Amino acid sequence: MNVLKTCEDLRKYVEAHSVAGNTIGFVPTMGALHNGHLSLLTRSVKENDVSIVSVFVNPIQFNNKEDLRMYPRTLDKDITLLESAGCNAVFVPEVAEMYPEGEIVAEKYDFGSLETVMEAKFRPGHFNGVAVVVKRLFDIAKPTRAYFGLKDFQQLAIIKSLVNQYDIPVEIVSCEIVREEDGLAMSSRNVRLKADERKQAARISHTLFDAVQYVNKKSVDEVRKFVINAINSVPLLSVEYFDLVDAATLQSIDKWDDAESVVGCIAVNVGEVRLIDAVLFL
Ligand code: AMP
Repeated sequence: MNVLKTCEDLRKYVEAHSVAGNTIGFVPTMGALHNGHLSLLTRSVKENDVSIVSVFVNPIQFNNKEDLRMYPRTLDKDITLLESAGCNAVFVPEVAEMYPEGEIVAEKYDFGSLETVMEAKFRPGHFNGVAVVVKRLFDIAKPTRAYFGLKDFQQLAIIKSLVNQYDIPVEIVSCEIVREEDGLAMSSRNVRLKADERKQAARISHTLFDAVQYVNKKSVDEVRKFVINAINSVPLLSVEYFDLVDAATLQSIDKWDDAESVVGCIAVNVGEVRLIDAVLFL
């Protein structure tokens, strides 16, 4: 596996493969890799001639300095995992490599109503930071396909909008959420949970799966309240938001037939750690 550190390294690597007519699968990550990330890579390996993973903790998408400082970094282990999962090249740039101009960047993207709800409301500037890094990575890696997890449901919608707005010739592939045995969505942040927090965190997905059974039996509002109350009644869990939204527009629904497809998106604070999850309701 090639370890590429500079944009120039990546550019040359990609150029050599495009000249050879190879398709390129790309998986952007922030490292501290787990089976969720590896499932994206496995799919890329199946569908492309060459798979590239980036490992970059993107400072400009963190609206909370402490979250950035505490974000787990396990590069040596990541490289071993990627190698054994069939990755061809990993891109591991320094911050100054991605942001030679410094961390105050000029680009300002507009995602309309996608960036007025849920994550965007609670993490101002987050999606602009995501869009800046993903656009810069796409411009260099020129992937045929790029792989994203449905756990970050709103991020996926933002990326699709970015690709549409700028006519980027890449196919965005959405990948199912990989969960721990007790149902907790795998996340790099899970390693920061203390033992009792880790145990209670499983109640997030349990509650969401319970709630799915109330579709068309209880009102949308009753289901919202059920989820929020059930999770808040677990001592170490505190819901930041939960919403039932139209999967296409991410806007709240009032009635079950307001949207063709409905997703429940949630953010929960578990001690010092903020976790998100997303479950298809309809
Ligand atoms: P991150 O390193 O958290 O920025 O995630 C990198 C990519 O992996 C994103 O597209 C995430 O949605 C995806 N991802 C993270 N956790 C999971 C999971 N449990 N299952 C599937 N995809 C995931």
